[in-house]
Amino acid sequence: MQGNRRRDTKPELAVRRAVHARGMRYRVDVRPLPGFNRRADLVFTRVKVAVFVDGCYWHGCPDHGTTPITNVDYWGPKIQRNRERDADTDQRLQEAGWVSVRIWEHDDVEDAASHIASVVSRASG
Ligand SMILES: [Zn+2]
Repeated sequence: MQGNRRRDTKPELAVRRAVHARGMRYRVDVRPLPGFNRRADLVFTRVKVAVFVDGCYWHGCPDHGTTPITNVDYWGPKIQRNRERDADTDQRLQEAGWVSVRIWEHDDVEDAASHIASVVSRASG
């Protein structure tokens, strides 16, 4: 089983393409905060917006992140840890003056890109 932070997953690429198509430029898979070992999928450094494209299963999406049927003792806590880490990441970013945007892999890509565009535009203003 590979780690859950593989690069260039399909939903991530789709979101990146849609955002890029709107003329927005960002950095990919970098740490928003120096010294804080968490990467974001799309990073808008100047306006301090970090976007995470979260997998439904690994990050426990309310629609598809159902409790694993097999190996609950192992995967249940692992997903729980991911969720806690996500919340912790958001908090650290917020404390540093960043805005954290979370996109589910099941989200409509164009809706996601619009949402990111509006957050970035608010952050620029
Ligand atoms: Zn989902």
